[in-house]
Amino acid sequence: MSGPEALRFAANLYRLPAPGGYFLVDAGLPWEAKRLLRQLPGPPKLLFLTHHHLDHSGGARALWERFGIPVLAHPREWPYLTGERPRPPLPVPLLGGWLANLAPPLPKEALRPVAEGDEVLGWRVVALPGHTLGQVGLLREGVLIAGDALRGRGLPPRWINEDHEAARGTLRKILELGVERVYLGHGGPLGREEVEALARRLGV
Ligand SMILES: [Zn+2]
Ligand SMILES: [Zn+2]
Repeated sequence: MSGPEALRFAANLYRLPAPGGYFLVDAGLPWEAKRLLRQLPGPPKLLFLTHHHLDHSGGARALWERFGIPVLAHPREWPYLTGERPRPPLPVPLLGGWLANLAPPLPKEALRPVAEGDEVLGWRVVALPGHTLGQVGLLREGVLIAGDALRGRGLPPRWINEDHEAARGTLRKILELGVERVYLGHGGPLGREEVEALARRLGV
């Protein structure tokens, strides 16, 4: 079976093969949605959100409106996705809170819960808490779609992680999952040796 196909937007989005089609991991910024919709070969089976940040979930509402597909996310992310709770501000003076919350809210009826151990079209859901508390990834045959659990060749900076210690623990967990290749929201993908080197460098 073929592997993940990266779509380069503000964040990397992924098309994952599924029986009879594909599904999408993450949805980009709200203002990227038109470009994303043009690039898709047809309706995805579903949208899987790794976490609530604007660059990953901002296009979710547009996808749901166009295709009526379920949007899968960990329940800890739901209040931000539905607008019930504001997303934490981005590090921009005065405008940070406004910028972080430009995504049109998703109605609750669009959302389906996912959690550690669930199966999504042949992939296993893995909890990757730290960057956000409800971040989730997908694992299959040594391939991990990891959202922002890692960024480039490091961890995301401390100021953007909801729980930085948990993010360090998640790096350890990724190694213990026996992954061979890690696909990231920004940069990457990384091979196992690179993740091992990172863990050594950070002392986790
Ligand atoms: Zn993020
Ligand atoms: Zn991101």
